[in-house]
Amino acid sequence: MKIIITGGAGFIGSHLARKLMSENHEVYLIDCLHPYYSIERKKKQLSAINSLSKDGFTLLDLLNREETMTFFQSISPDAVIHLAALPGVAYSIKRPLEYVDYDIKATINVLEACGQSGAEQFIFASSSSVYGNQKGPLKEELATGNVISPYAASKYSAESFCHVYRNLYGFETKILRFFTVYGPWVRPDMAIGIFLKKLLKNQEVTLFGEDRIRDFTYIEDIVDGIYLSLTKLHSSEVINIGSGKPISMLSLLNELKRYFPEMKIRREKSRAGDVVQTWADIRKAADLFGYRPNTSFEKGLAETVKWARENEDYL
Ligand code: NAD
Repeated sequence: MKIIITGGAGFIGSHLARKLMSENHEVYLIDCLHPYYSIERKKKQLSAINSLSKDGFTLLDLLNREETMTFFQSISPDAVIHLAALPGVAYSIKRPLEYVDYDIKATINVLEACGQSGAEQFIFASSSSVYGNQKGPLKEELATGNVISPYAASKYSAESFCHVYRNLYGFETKILRFFTVYGPWVRPDMAIGIFLKKLLKNQEVTLFGEDRIRDFTYIEDIVDGIYLSLTKLHSSEVINIGSGKPISMLSLLNELKRYFPEMKIRREKSRAGDVVQTWADIRKAADLFGYRPNTSFEKGLAETVKWARENEDYL
C-alpha cells in the first residue's frame, strides 16, 4: 500500500514508519518538526528509520492548505494515517488557540486532501482524553464531549470532522483512541519521560495526584493496533487502542524504584486538565481485528529504562 503518515518524525510516527516499511509498504512521512519538544530529537527519530528513501520525508506544515493538497495529489495514497498534532494536556491549558490550529484546522486540511487525492482510508490518532473524567473501563460510546482540557476538546472536535469528511468523500475512517503511550523515544513531556530524565540525574521526582490511574500502553502494542486496523478492518469505526490494564502513578514509581532505588518523591496536588483515570475497554478492537496487547508493563518499562540510559541526551 502507498501510505502517508503525518507527524512521521514524532514518537508514534517514527515507530509506525519502521513497522510499515518492514512490511514492504511504500511510506511517505510528513512533519513540520514543530518545536513543542526538541527538533534535534525529531531529526534523530527520523534518522532511526533506516530504510526511508530520499523522497520518504517531506517537511510540510499541514496548516498550509494549498501545499498539503498539492503534496497529497502528487502521491495519491491508498491510506492516510494522521498522527500530526500538538499533544499535551498541560500546554493546551496555556495555549488553547494553538490546539484549534494544529489539532483541528490541520486535521480538516488533511481530511480534505485525503478525499481530493482519492485515498481509500483515513486513520486518525485520537486520545483517551475524549472520555473526560469518567471511571471504569471506558467503552467507545461513552465519549460525550464533556471533556476537561482544550487538548481533549480539540481531539473530540477533530473526530467530529472525521465523520463529516467520511460522509463527504466516502473513504473509510478509523478513529483510534490511544491510551497513554510509552516505550523507547517516549515523549519527553509525558510522565514516564519526565520521571526518567530526573531519575537519571538523581533528582527528586514530583508526583501530581498519587491516586491518578493510567492505562499505560507500550508503543509496539499501539503500532500493532494501528497496523491491524489498517490491514484487517474494512469499515469506519471508533476504537480504543490501550492495554486495558491501568495502574496508579504510585505503582509506576514503585516499579521505577527497582531501577532507581535512591528515588526521592515530592507529592503535589493533581494538575488542572488531568483526568482521574484512563482505562480502556479494548473488546471492540479485539472482536473487530484481533487486537491483543501483549507487552507486560514490567517488560515495557524495562525496555524504556534501557533506552533512556542509552539516550539520556534526548530525554
Ligand atoms: P509527537 O509530538 O511525538 O508527534 C507529533 C508530530 O506531529 C510531531 O513530530 C510534530 O512535529 C508533528 N506536527 C504537529 N503539527 C504538525 C503540522 N501542522 N504539520 C506537520 N507536522 C506536524 O506525538 P506522539 O506522542 O507521537 O502522538 C502522535 C499522535 O497520537 C498525536 O495526534 C497525539 O495527540 C496522539 N496521541 C498520543 C498519545 C501518547 O500517549 N503519545 C496518546 C493519545 C493520543
